[in-house]
Amino acid sequence: MYNKDNIFAKIITKEIPCDLIFEDEKVIFFHDIRPQAKIHILGIPKAEVINLSDFVQTCGQDEVYYFFQKIYEVLRKFNLQKTGYRLITNEGVNSNQEVPHFHVHILGGEKLGSLN
Ligand code: 5GP
Repeated sequence: MYNKDNIFAKIITKEIPCDLIFEDEKVIFFHDIRPQAKIHILGIPKAEVINLSDFVQTCGQDEVYYFFQKIYEVLRKFNLQKTGYRLITNEGVNSNQEVPHFHVHILGGEKLGSLN
């Protein structure tokens, strides 16, 4: 069940400020408050969905496609499609997801540590 009190819901409603990158009626992108890389962006669809599974099950394909198009636009804004980046989403207990509103992390701006 979606919890309307989560921090990202409050960022969407402007109760909490953020370092905004891009926003429209469907999505919002802003800088992570505790960056794990030189560039650490959070990308969020405004639909009340908890994680990726919830997003693809609840929202139609147009909305899912739209979100990924906007991710690509933000990548281009920071030239990350040229320099490289990492796209992450956390879901469920094993991932330690902290904020229960679906979001992606976009990490880049420097050489990232290897995953293996
Ligand atoms: P998660 O573990 O849920 O995938 O990641 C949540 C992310 O949200 C973390 O990287 C954390 O630093 C970030 N975060 C938590 N609270 C805030 C906030 O109030 N503002 C911003 N900009 N980022 C936040």
